[in-house]
Amino acid sequence: MRTHALVPSLLLLGALSFTAACSSGSDSSSDVTDADGRPGSSATPSPVRTVDPSKIKGLRIVSHSSEQSSCPFATSYPDVPGAEAMTAAMRKDVEKRLTGFRSGQCEDGTPGTPPRELNISHQFLVASGDVLGVRLRTQDHSAAASGLSTTTYWYDGKADAYRTALGLVAEGSRDAFITALEDRLKGREGVDAAALDDTFSDPASRTAALDDMAITADGGLRVNLDRGEVGVPAAGALTVVLPRKTITPWLSAFGQRVQRQTMTPSPSLDLGVPHTSTPTAPAPTASGDDNTDCKKVTCIALTFDDGPAAPETATLLTYLAQYKARATFFTVGQNVAAHPDLVRAEARAGHEVGNHSWNHPDLTKLTPGQIAFQLNRTSAAIEAATGKAPTLFRPPYGAVNARVKAATTLSPVLWDVDTEDWKYPDADKVARSVITKARRNGVVLMHDIHPTSVAAVPQILRTLSARGFHFVTVSHLRATL
Ligand code: ZN
Repeated sequence: MRTHALVPSLLLLGALSFTAACSSGSDSSSDVTDADGRPGSSATPSPVRTVDPSKIKGLRIVSHSSEQSSCPFATSYPDVPGAEAMTAAMRKDVEKRLTGFRSGQCEDGTPGTPPRELNISHQFLVASGDVLGVRLRTQDHSAAASGLSTTTYWYDGKADAYRTALGLVAEGSRDAFITALEDRLKGREGVDAAALDDTFSDPASRTAALDDMAITADGGLRVNLDRGEVGVPAAGALTVVLPRKTITPWLSAFGQRVQRQTMTPSPSLDLGVPHTSTPTAPAPTASGDDNTDCKKVTCIALTFDDGPAAPETATLLTYLAQYKARATFFTVGQNVAAHPDLVRAEARAGHEVGNHSWNHPDLTKLTPGQIAFQLNRTSAAIEAATGKAPTLFRPPYGAVNARVKAATTLSPVLWDVDTEDWKYPDADKVARSVITKARRNGVVLMHDIHPTSVAAVPQILRTLSARGFHFVTVSHLRATL
């Protein structure tokens, strides 16, 4: 974020093979790499292709987030059947960062001084043939440096092996590759030649620094270096693109397949696992208008944030249908992209689909352009899935201010019954919490990414129905009050 002001001057330095990255959101003008919502820079050469994750069979997005402003974190990474070793590597990295953040911020830290937030989002780079590539982008506002780091993870379905970014380059060619990389970095503003030599001469630090590499749409190799890794922090993150002609002879056999599958993707990913059945969304049961009159009867609005998730959301829809209950889903854009079928099922069953940003950042820390990007991209994904654009948004962590409101036409929705279900993965406790706190015209906050929260729902619906509650959407509640 703090690199932003430096971008214009650094862009002036940009030759075709080198540019200062405007954080990592510069993969292409239509890309969503920038998890903070900054649209990609058209000045960046050689865009990386994007992938439609809804085509990946059996995909699960592993999400975890809080909704508490004193402990703001949101993490996600994909779990693709057949690529377990890669999933394990991502899980290890994510859990390490999250554990560090939570122990420093949520248990011992002093909230708000300085403002801290952890956000880990994901993006598919390749999901084609026997090649899978994912980039994780971590924005850690608690870190001493810029707090932004990116890492790519690769899976080689042919060898059934997880590969690091450096695995794209053949071992015998790494020296030549490093030399070419150094040539392009040395002499650039902010790059420390001595630090560069130190970093690249030591195998361990070389692997750590070169942990984000991907093939561009035109076959080049794009290397992203986090801020401060080989330069003074003021230089920001750095990106080098080695053109196809240069890099091709240095690629490993796996790297060559990544290059091929990136430039001419196959229609699907095939990691040699038997067909995994995707979670089936239940058939619609409660479509049509809801004529519940909340002036006459006791209404309550259940809201479910952070999804959709497979299989939890499909299970939840089944429970809601059994009690003819309607709810509001505040969906996260990157999960909508992975599971548009579940969002479609929500809408068809008469539930309301709202916007909860693309990847769950604290919107009050973003610029108006970034806020708009976060919300607009998510609204577009919801509309693509359901045919209807949302009218409501729930700001992550309930963090909203005048700047956020001014950046969107969506209406903000907070809550007045908090179950803290993200903190207590205990179905009975979640159910008791909702049942105890339920009140007429209340808006209840839950999360359908947690199996325990979904498991609490039948007890909630059974008990509150018996007490005369009617379960309506947020817009219905607002319209009839
Ligand atoms: Zn949330």
